[in-house]
Amino acid sequence: MTETPDDSPAQHTTDQAETVQARADWVSRLADDVIAEAARRGTKPVAASGISPSGPVHLGNFREVMSPHLVIDEIQRRGIEAEHIFSWDDYDRFRKVPAGIEGVDASWSEHIGKPLTSVPAPPGSEHDSWAAHFRSAAEAGFAEAGVRYRGISQTEQYAAGTYTEQILHAMRHRREIDAILAQYRTLPAAKDEDEALQRALDASSGAASDDDGSGGAEYYPYKPYCTACGKDLTTIEAYDDESTEMTYSCQCGHRETVLLREFRSGKLVWKVDWPMRWAHERVVFEPSGVDHQSPGSSFQVGLQLAPVFGWERPLGPMYAFVGFGGVAKMSSSRGGAPTPSDALAVMEAPVLRWLYARRRMNQSFDVAFGSELQRTYDEWDALLRKAAAGTAGEAEIAALERATSTANGPLPETPRRVAYRTLASVVDITFGDEEQIVRILGGLDADDPITDLDALRPRLDRVEAWVATHMPAEEHTAVREQADREALDALTEAEREGIALLLDGGQGLPPIEEAWTLDGLTFQVYGVAKVQRGLEPGAMVKGDKELSAAQRAFFALLYRLLVGRETGPRIPTLLLAIGRERVRELLT
Ligand SMILES: [Zn+2]
Repeated sequence: MTETPDDSPAQHTTDQAETVQARADWVSRLADDVIAEAARRGTKPVAASGISPSGPVHLGNFREVMSPHLVIDEIQRRGIEAEHIFSWDDYDRFRKVPAGIEGVDASWSEHIGKPLTSVPAPPGSEHDSWAAHFRSAAEAGFAEAGVRYRGISQTEQYAAGTYTEQILHAMRHRREIDAILAQYRTLPAAKDEDEALQRALDASSGAASDDDGSGGAEYYPYKPYCTACGKDLTTIEAYDDESTEMTYSCQCGHRETVLLREFRSGKLVWKVDWPMRWAHERVVFEPSGVDHQSPGSSFQVGLQLAPVFGWERPLGPMYAFVGFGGVAKMSSSRGGAPTPSDALAVMEAPVLRWLYARRRMNQSFDVAFGSELQRTYDEWDALLRKAAAGTAGEAEIAALERATSTANGPLPETPRRVAYRTLASVVDITFGDEEQIVRILGGLDADDPITDLDALRPRLDRVEAWVATHMPAEEHTAVREQADREALDALTEAEREGIALLLDGGQGLPPIEEAWTLDGLTFQVYGVAKVQRGLEPGAMVKGDKELSAAQRAFFALLYRLLVGRETGPRIPTLLLAIGRERVRELLT
């Protein structure tokens, strides 16, 4: 893990960073900044997220949600009234037909140019629009992750005329707005070799690269959705500030004159819309992705456009990419990058929250879906042990608290935390047979045996889903149906002796039946090679390469005899999973 000296260099000073807080981490420091900024502006701390529900909301977009969530949640934990608003930019145009949505083909391009709430939902959806379908799916994941906010549908806002005064204001100030935007239009476009930016632009909803309303004979910051065809392939031909009379024409042939103060079919262009809403909602904090941070992008332009609406651009640190690894084809094939719900199917909500809370916003990271997820869980369990032992650092404790609870209370926890990789091996070997799982896990801890699988939930449920969907094919283990006679007959004398020591004990080792716990079997399997080299089975040996090689060779032998491969789950776990009688059958 690499640490960078500061999470958002533009926004705080050394003095603030050194202020002692109950929770000493980047979230707490940003919360300090947001509280101070809100006080300076004479308003309450309001953070905003905004997402265009143009397709599945993936784990990268989720940082747009988690970052303000964590900061507002910290402020609420301090007992200060604060709000996280979530703008569903569902009045944005349908820009392109995303790939990989089941039942959606190129014919959907007929809807390009309509608001997302006017595009039909993908086939089979219970929702009445494209936007509602993807918003609903995303919100289910957000809720499970413990994220609370006030959701705002921009379609509803525009349809209700909420922004009418702001629209008329923007039209009156269109020359001023045009002049501001003109300063950026001449800037060179982002370089293709700027890979990070390019990836972001490719991945983004497109809002960042949205046009700014230029192109017509006169500049207008407003775009009508044609009342005949529903699309925004429109051009404003005339506008009168006094009467608000507006004439527009559409590529479909429709042309009409309306009173803009009464007209509800249209919106401010994105680069003007966003700053207008900062002012309307009195937003103090809104982080954004790298795609919004390039020269001429909406966030940069917003610095000068927000004052047109009587507000200042919010604090807006950039957040870095969230990638993913090890996603099985079956899930990535339906819509590309995985979503929070995909992640929550294989990991508990606190673990997902922890991944976002522990990294500063300018650090990118990957959410692991493949074997690396087992390591993520090892780290998580190690942190929980450190916290229980009182040896975790302040920032670690802060991240842990943000992961396991919100200002609203704790998230569901698993009472008995058996290692994810152990559970995965057991579930894999038993094909999820719960009776067998209880039998095997009952042997894990002799002093406090597990008798009830509910104590292992919800973690066990996540493991079962992971084994079924994401466990790499080469890691699945199939225990031999019967002993490999040929291999057993061909054992060397030393190998035969090793197996006898493992099963029957001797020279300080007990019979395997008496070692039938995870710790006991670990002692047993590592002890065999020591005994064979004339050592005590419990001898502490460090740096003996020959001993290590002998142990590895012995394990490889066991894998061959038990599962017919050179590798597999940890041997003690494997032995527990196979069961006492069966182990004897396969090894003799
Ligand atoms: Zn039209």
